[in-house]
Amino acid sequence: MLKDKVAVVTGGSRGIGKAIALKLAEQGASVVVNYTSNSQAADEVVMAIQEMGCKALAVKADVSKADDIENLIKATEAELGKIQILVNNAGITRDGLLIRMKEEEWDDVLNINLKGVFLATKLIGKKMLKEKQGSIVNVTSVVGLMGNAGQANYAASKAGVIGFTKSVAKEFASRNINVNAVAPGFIQSDMTDKLSAEVIENYMQAIPLGRLGVANDVANLVSFLVSDHSNYITGQTIQVDGGMYI
Ligand code: NAP
Repeated sequence: MLKDKVAVVTGGSRGIGKAIALKLAEQGASVVVNYTSNSQAADEVVMAIQEMGCKALAVKADVSKADDIENLIKATEAELGKIQILVNNAGITRDGLLIRMKEEEWDDVLNINLKGVFLATKLIGKKMLKEKQGSIVNVTSVVGLMGNAGQANYAASKAGVIGFTKSVAKEFASRNINVNAVAPGFIQSDMTDKLSAEVIENYMQAIPLGRLGVANDVANLVSFLVSDHSNYITGQTIQVDGGMYI
């Protein structure tokens, strides 16, 4: 149970982040639903959480901007209290073959997917270190482990998150803070709805469990990793991919 815990879920307004926000609330946590552009989607998640009888707050913040994260922390502490759980979920894709990839597409993906994780972990982690408690889960991808043609920027950002997770796990362990990563495979979401039927069929062929993942498959693992049941687990990257990358 996560009663009396305050959780921040970056990119908690849609897709996997939304499922994580709802799952943590189901366990009793108060949840900050972070977003950047779609305030309506964030408000809907907040309302759903409040209907469960838990506290929730929508906060607009671009994770690649330190000032935005400082403001998110201030708003959270004022409304809900100190943060014990951070789920770095916000992420984007800007796909294209390397030869045609624009510098801006590289920068956008690295800034949000990797620098965003660095900033949120540094600024919220600093608070957790003082309290000597906390759980951090970073959402990476199997693409960060296996690479993917057309996603050099995304794969680099997600591989970076894995190295970052291991390093910070070592730095924060003495203060009772565990830091893990989850690596989803192919999960149905707005991000994957952009892919062609042919690409989706190819992925299906490569998934031993024979189905695409759903956001709840990831949310179930995250809720375990932020609970007391995983107190002795840190620095790990756990795949949720139906066996795609065995
Ligand atoms: P999604 O449906 O596109 O949702 C992305 C979320 O991130 C939205 O809430 C969005 O907010 C938010 N966001 C985007 N840029 C942001 C920024 N700069 N600052 C704060 N929030 C920002 O994505 P998803 O498929 O659920 O993916 C979630 C995470 O899982 C990502 O890290 C992704 O790389 C990873 N992942 C996904 C899959 C998959 O198959 N779907 C597989 C492996 C890994 P707005 O609504 O305001 O834009």
